[in-house]
Amino acid sequence: VSFAHFGFDDDLMAAIIKAGYSEPSAIQKQALPVALNGRDIIGIAKTGSGKTAAFVLPMLVHIMDQEELIKSDGPIGLILAPTRELAVQIYTETKKFAKAYGLKVAAVYGGASKMQQFKELRSGTVEILVATPGRLIDMIKMKATNLRRVSYLCLDEADRMFDLGFEPQVRSLCDNIRPDRQTLLFSATFQKRVESLARQVTTDPIRISV
Ligand code: AMP
Repeated sequence: VSFAHFGFDDDLMAAIIKAGYSEPSAIQKQALPVALNGRDIIGIAKTGSGKTAAFVLPMLVHIMDQEELIKSDGPIGLILAPTRELAVQIYTETKKFAKAYGLKVAAVYGGASKMQQFKELRSGTVEILVATPGRLIDMIKMKATNLRRVSYLCLDEADRMFDLGFEPQVRSLCDNIRPDRQTLLFSATFQKRVESLARQVTTDPIRISV
């Protein structure tokens, strides 16, 4: 199975090649067809497995399939990450591919200026937002953004969300996103607590493990 197999258009294929990806990784081979089909995923995979592209590439296809791209504001694709470091990593990886369609990506996380992030979110339409849970809630309270348009949600490193005490924030954010969204949850480990969160935030998910 090669990237050509998934039906990505020429623009996205060019970005994939430019990123230096010649062959999909194990998690990508399993997750891409499922996510491109619109199904929810519970994925057990570690950083380094290529999980970012596994959820970002279908997110881009999902966004480009939306008909009313310009009419509203707020992101269509939302990625929640437990730490600033991971959020920045995902942001960097996502930008490589979002460029193919001229989609705007923003990242908000703790430990950096709220005002600057507020301005960034308010400066124009952001189709993809990468966020740590606490800072995203701050940004929503400040009316820098909203979740009304989110229809593709990814929770990355769900186990670390628990370790860092973000479970209530994550649940509250998920409760405020339209229930007919597509949801992908990734975790390096899969204990009971992750299982329970996964069951609450996904609908009829396909399980993938690498
Ligand atoms: P991730 O697990 O998503 O953090 O990815 C780990 C690293 O592998 C990142 O630097 C990616 O750019 C790279 N990567 C992901 N998928 C592939 C692929 N199919 N071929 C080559 N490199 C990849």
